[in-house]
Amino acid sequence: MRLRVGLVGIGKIARDQHIPALKADSRFELVACASRNATVDGTANFPDLEAMLAAVPDLHCISICTPPQAHFDAALTALRAGKHVMLEKPPAATTRQIALLADEAARRGRTLFQTWHSRFAAGVDAAREFLRTRQLVSGKIIWKEDVHHWHPGQRWIWEPGGFGVFDPGINALSLLTEILPKEVCVEAAVLEFPENQQSPIAANLRMRTEDGVEIGAEFDFRQKGEQSWDIVLTTTSGVLKLAGGGASVSIDGKAVTADASMAGEYPRLYERFASLCKAGKSEVDWRPFQLVADAFLIGERRIVAPHEI
Ligand code: NAP
Repeated sequence: MRLRVGLVGIGKIARDQHIPALKADSRFELVACASRNATVDGTANFPDLEAMLAAVPDLHCISICTPPQAHFDAALTALRAGKHVMLEKPPAATTRQIALLADEAARRGRTLFQTWHSRFAAGVDAAREFLRTRQLVSGKIIWKEDVHHWHPGQRWIWEPGGFGVFDPGINALSLLTEILPKEVCVEAAVLEFPENQQSPIAANLRMRTEDGVEIGAEFDFRQKGEQSWDIVLTTTSGVLKLAGGGASVSIDGKAVTADASMAGEYPRLYERFASLCKAGKSEVDWRPFQLVADAFLIGERRIVAPHEI
């Protein structure tokens, strides 16, 4: 039986990734979409989730692609209606919200798949396997992109709860927490806020593993020219570079993975969602979100030049 899906929040990621992945996957049927200002050809369309649930009560699952500020209400409504839920990253606007969603899913015996799409990138398995038996010496994350190119006109990213540069930066933290065999904490952070915005445009983090190894992170939304989504981890027996947002791995400069594209991430996400729904299990890991929240808690705040969206 195909899983009948309703998609919520039809914006960039819904159109770029979710809709193509769903249409190509025979395990799913994209039945309905809910969005205030957008519609999708070939599906039933509704202005909001409540109207979609009322009109199409036999949906099995809801996939939520709205910005994080809208995740909690939508996910809670869907779970309470008895649906399985797949949630885009970042998981919610506050850490308590994601904990409550996990509790609600468990109570109702529904699947909550709180996704980290970068963990489904082509290089992740090779990186995790390499690090499993190595001794880490130091680490560096460089995550720098041009916000105007990647988030054109997106106002929510600058609003409270919008994460600013941590919207991409949390992807790096989702990779780090996935591939490292040890846990990490934030020790110090510097967050740069444009004087006219509510969210940071850049951040520097100093993290430390439970074994005392220092890992730095530089996140910046003002990058022009070459973009970087790289993690470099130096061990006593080789330097691992996970580049292209997790797509490619090299060790001591030698390529390990051939597939340097990100094309497979969302097909693999939906494959996992289908198997979680079938098994009646949830997958929730908010460690990357805790690191971001901790950077906000502990971070020094600097005001920088205004940023025009
Ligand atoms: P987007 O282009 O702004 O689309 C999100 C859509 O959600 C909007 O078009 C809007 O559609 C709807 N929405 C519902 N409540 C909203 C609210 N309170 N504020 C703004 N929009 C609201 O954003 P996106 O780039 O698709 O990102 C959505 C989520 O996907 C984010 O959590 C982001 O981190 C994640 N993501 C994005 C990318 C990417 O490349 N852009 C990649 C991976 C993950 P209506 O106005 O029609 O309701």
